[in-house]
Amino acid sequence: MAGEFELIERYFRRAGGRAAVGIGDDAAVLIPPAGHELVVTTDMLTEGVHFFAGADPRLLGHKSLAVNLSDLAAMGAQPTWATLSLSMPHPDENWLAAYSSGLFGLLDAHGVELIGGDTCRGPLCIVIQAGGWVEEGSALLRNGASVGDSVWVSGSLGDAALGLMLEQGIWKADGTDDVDPRRRLHAPEPRVGLGRALRGLASAAIDVSDGLLADLGHLLKSSATPGADIELEHLPLSAAYRRYLAETASWDAALAGGEDYELCFTAPDASREAILEAGRQCRVPCTGIGTVTAETGIRVVEPGGAIYRPRAAGFAHF
Ligand code: ADP
Ligand code: MG
Repeated sequence: MAGEFELIERYFRRAGGRAAVGIGDDAAVLIPPAGHELVVTTDMLTEGVHFFAGADPRLLGHKSLAVNLSDLAAMGAQPTWATLSLSMPHPDENWLAAYSSGLFGLLDAHGVELIGGDTCRGPLCIVIQAGGWVEEGSALLRNGASVGDSVWVSGSLGDAALGLMLEQGIWKADGTDDVDPRRRLHAPEPRVGLGRALRGLASAAIDVSDGLLADLGHLLKSSATPGADIELEHLPLSAAYRRYLAETASWDAALAGGEDYELCFTAPDASREAILEAGRQCRVPCTGIGTVTAETGIRVVEPGGAIYRPRAAGFAHF
């Protein structure tokens, strides 16, 4: 059976990295580009909590990195490197080969280098840390929103929640759906290019991991702005979601479903055209869904002006 170091060599070490020192020494060495700040994030995926036992390792490879790149996207940073700390009950080479191929697929798509990690025996748990660079002073933060700014969201909302309903057998797929909700759940595409393009346009940003209402709530709280009005009719929905909506009349998965990994951001009106153009350039549509207000709380407004009351809140671990 291969030992720890052979496994790292086989599945995680690659020749030709750009880091001054990558995998193989006690620590990696990176050379920060002049005029940039370091942006770092980490996310943990634990079997039984974040994914089901027996989940497809290739998809886990993608998703474990995607959630980190999504955080960097929400900061406007250019992802450059990642580390992988992995605990597993036994060294399963089929699992490692598939995990590694999913991971490197997304690493390569974004030019990110795996520069180190740690490997040990234990319950299946994946911790990725990712980092990158942003031009000095231009990181997108949660705390920059002002009353009167528009609230925007990228892509479409609620598809990952539909993917989970498909997995749980409580909703049925349809050949005519435009997006594959399961793919949106298991293989989210981090909005890295869009995040970069929003530097200087957005006043505040966050990625939607726990649901729109919860994450917009975090942004408003950081910004010390009291609330927002969200127009239901403007929520960007896939055709799959519209079919679900026709069946259930429920907006809750779009408003409060987790794991869409879209960007939610605020911006002054002056940024409007440039944001729409950025969305076109990045092929990720951006939709204005509401306004930051001086009234306390997030109000979800129906087309007729009535207030919609979601039944679900966002996701919370504790
Ligand atoms: P140390 O004992 O000094 O922490 P390790 O023996 O844990 O070093 O790791 C040896 C090298 O392999 C280090 O460069 C480390 O960053 C890298 N490494 C260990 N596990 C992984 C992994 N799962 N993915 C990528 N690199 C790893
Ligand atoms: Mg170690």
